[in-house]
Amino acid sequence: MHEVEEHLKGKGILVTVSLRQDRYRGWDADDSARELRELALSSGVNIVDEIICKRNELTPNYLIGKGKAQEIRELIQDQHEEIDVVLFSKNLSSTQQSNLEDILDIKTIDRTQLILDVFAQRAHSNEGKLQVELAQLEYLFPRLIGKGIMLSRLGGGIGTRGPGEQKLEVDRRGIRGKITKIKDELEKVRFRRGQLRKKRIEHSVATIAVIGYTNAGKSTLLNSLTGAKVSVDNKLFTTLDPTSRQYTLPNNQKVLFVDTVGFIHNLPHNLIEAFKATLEEVQEADLLLHVLDINNPKANEQLDAVYEVLKELGTLEKPMVTALNKVDLVNSPQVIEHFRNKLTAAVAISALKGTGFDGFINIIADKLKALVRTVDIFIPHSKIFLVSRIYEEGKVIERKDTDQGVQIKAMIPATGRWDGWIVKRGKGDGKTKKRGNGETGKRGKGEKGKVS
Ligand code: GDP
Ligand code: MG
Repeated sequence: MHEVEEHLKGKGILVTVSLRQDRYRGWDADDSARELRELALSSGVNIVDEIICKRNELTPNYLIGKGKAQEIRELIQDQHEEIDVVLFSKNLSSTQQSNLEDILDIKTIDRTQLILDVFAQRAHSNEGKLQVELAQLEYLFPRLIGKGIMLSRLGGGIGTRGPGEQKLEVDRRGIRGKITKIKDELEKVRFRRGQLRKKRIEHSVATIAVIGYTNAGKSTLLNSLTGAKVSVDNKLFTTLDPTSRQYTLPNNQKVLFVDTVGFIHNLPHNLIEAFKATLEEVQEADLLLHVLDINNPKANEQLDAVYEVLKELGTLEKPMVTALNKVDLVNSPQVIEHFRNKLTAAVAISALKGTGFDGFINIIADKLKALVRTVDIFIPHSKIFLVSRIYEEGKVIERKDTDQGVQIKAMIPATGRWDGWIVKRGKGDGKTKKRGNGETGKRGKGEKGKVS
């Protein structure tokens, strides 16, 4: 299956192409260069050198003109180390790509290919992976114009029948078949996903999706927050993907932090579906933790772009906490003030230095309170093993052991899981927050006492 899954690595040279029209729109050459750098770093490429080409317009055959392409070739030859790839900040047509590879004699990657590579590395679910692979194949398909270098990008699995036209035809047919197969598989995976989600709701763990721009510090935050606290023996969590981390809030509520793929400025249209597929955690989360790099000069624009995507995903209404990250690099208090005023539930932190965590954990706990309810539960002796489950999942406020069983007042996650054992509903009940998928609390009378 996953022929295109081989990820970018090795040493690369970055070529930022800045057009006059970009600069008119307030997107400087420096902004483009920073973005390319961040994407390259996210993909795992080792940056050896960077070039910025400012142009009025692009050329159809070489994007940046033949002369400039030759300059880049010299630059590659002048390096002390062997270069593996040249990354372009713009998209390349198949003609441009093959012409450039002719001159440079090295693999080239354009903006869409680079973004897809980042997505491929960050897509964790089956659906996400398939969606990204589909986008990769669809993007590469029209680019199969007989260039050896390009075919090799698809790995060794396809078209071993020999060179020339015949091989090309086999490649095309192979890829077309693969595209169909992936689409079929996506159908099946979507069905299974619905079932998995139900399971997660039954286990009543609040999930917090960590979102934000590429390089905002999402993974760093997750690591320093939960690094020492990942439970090794919790079976539920070992079945989830590796970027999920369990965390216990001060009120003893267990939550799950889920890392997501980073946002990207001006995402190419053909990638929106793949991007959204990698963001399915967002749709299913109870709460969003938005990590914003306030040291980034484009932080305001990034903020707007994140909200724009959340709107498209229909998740703008979800409770959200914003971590104003990288304060350790921010010298001006006004910058922090600006974002604090602009956003509700925003806390300045440094994911790297581990500062400010208490503040935003408290806000998260507060926000999740709406998802917790206080109830009176009665567990008969025959089901006594459920008592320890209550201690694990919630916070026990009162406990009374009687002849018939155990009477407990506890704060528990507001799913329907315990409904069959509740004897008296307490404060906060009935306010179960309706999730985006509308499934919470749907468990009816028929499922009474289904905890086991
Ligand atoms: P992600 O793409 O959002 O997951 O971002 P990463 O967690 O990979 O972080 C991107 C870069 O920012 C890394 O080089 C981190 O070391 C750096 N970084 C993250 N948080 C902070 C912070 O609070 N302060 C500083 N100075 N750097 C940070
Ligand atoms: Mg990350």
